[in-house]
Amino acid sequence: METAVEVAEKVQELVTSLASLPPAASEEDNIDRLQHLERAKRALAAAQATATNAFVEQRKAHEAGMRITTSEQLKGIEAEVGLARGESPFVGAALTYTATALCNVLPKTYAALADGRVSEYHARIVAEQTSHLSDAHRREIDGLIAHRVGKASSSQLRKLIQGHAYRLDRKAAEQRAAQNRRDRRVCLDPGSDGLSYLTAELPTHQAVAVMDALEKLTNQRLAAHRRQQTQAAAAGDTPEAIGDESLSRDQVIADIFVELLTGQTTADGVTAEVVVVMHDTSLFGNDDVPAWLPGHGPLPAGMVKHWLADPAAAKFFRRMYTRATDGQLVALESKRRHFPEGLSKMLAIRDDTCATPWCNSPVEDADHRKSWAQGGATSWENATGLCKRCNQRKENRGWSYTGTPDLLMVTTPTGHQYTVPTRPPISQLRHDTTDPPIGPIDIAWPAAA
Ligand SMILES: [Zn+2]
Repeated sequence: METAVEVAEKVQELVTSLASLPPAASEEDNIDRLQHLERAKRALAAAQATATNAFVEQRKAHEAGMRITTSEQLKGIEAEVGLARGESPFVGAALTYTATALCNVLPKTYAALADGRVSEYHARIVAEQTSHLSDAHRREIDGLIAHRVGKASSSQLRKLIQGHAYRLDRKAAEQRAAQNRRDRRVCLDPGSDGLSYLTAELPTHQAVAVMDALEKLTNQRLAAHRRQQTQAAAAGDTPEAIGDESLSRDQVIADIFVELLTGQTTADGVTAEVVVVMHDTSLFGNDDVPAWLPGHGPLPAGMVKHWLADPAAAKFFRRMYTRATDGQLVALESKRRHFPEGLSKMLAIRDDTCATPWCNSPVEDADHRKSWAQGGATSWENATGLCKRCNQRKENRGWSYTGTPDLLMVTTPTGHQYTVPTRPPISQLRHDTTDPPIGPIDIAWPAAA
């Protein structure tokens, strides 16, 4: 068995040799180099899959030895794999799942990955697209598609596997479709520059019906708008007088989508509760520091000022003060077990998204790092903003979350530690954090309808 130190030395050697590669002499050489490096990357992914699978097996044996029941084994391993690879628990779960499938029931795909003939992404498609099948059928499909792995596009690969899966086990495919229907959901993800993605995962026929309804209403609105324009032009009105905004079809369909879901008469009139954090210098002065919508990211300060100036947007201000040196929010204390609303809001602002390193999920729970049962206080010092899953996982054997309001240290069952700073992301946008006191941060949110 190789020791961890020997492995670290070998990897360091590889990293050093890659960093010191001389420039390639020609265009052809650069493409050759890309191909060689891609092959190495794939082989590394196979080595990671082997290590992941061995880790899972060892943990299983270890826990069986502790007489932990099968259903209670392997709790939280996906997050341990994610943390080790700098990924969220969600991605960690997919990587763990793919690794165990490749090592146990997809030998040909694994061999192609280790040999550099297929990418990690395509290997993951094979694992995911066969996940509902028996081990025997997975092995069979692994053999049937081996000649196409690494040659087919991702969509060709998916369809090829689906076709074989339907043929081999129609019932499993139907059950999977039923499960997918149960997993329908709507989620909100940050986009860029003031836009967000609102995604609905729906059974196909329902998604088509929603889109049809939107198209129909859009056609009606555009036709009505054209009629108005024609009538106004006939009456001699100028385009300005008839409000010719020349909206694109995409804009109209997006407006109707918002109006239908919020019940507003116009898309701009929404009164959804949102919390915006901005420095007072951005709000009242001409500072360039953007505002921050907790969980979603930065917004241009001018856009938020414009929105706050809209008399239609009901709103009030809550003033929060920050520490002069680094912009950390100030503390609140409470004797109650449940975090008061103000403290929960402060956590959502400070941690922005779940504080577990690399987890992208929204903050759902204000968690006591040291639990209430063990005498942990309901206080800013002892609080972390976490998503529900991370909050549950940290209760498993061998996990601990420790720290201060300024940093969080996560310790996993193997004793590995991951430390991240926890200051409001907006405080990291200042070009010079040694500036004079940042001063109060203003939070403004429109009252909910
Ligand atoms: Zn989380």
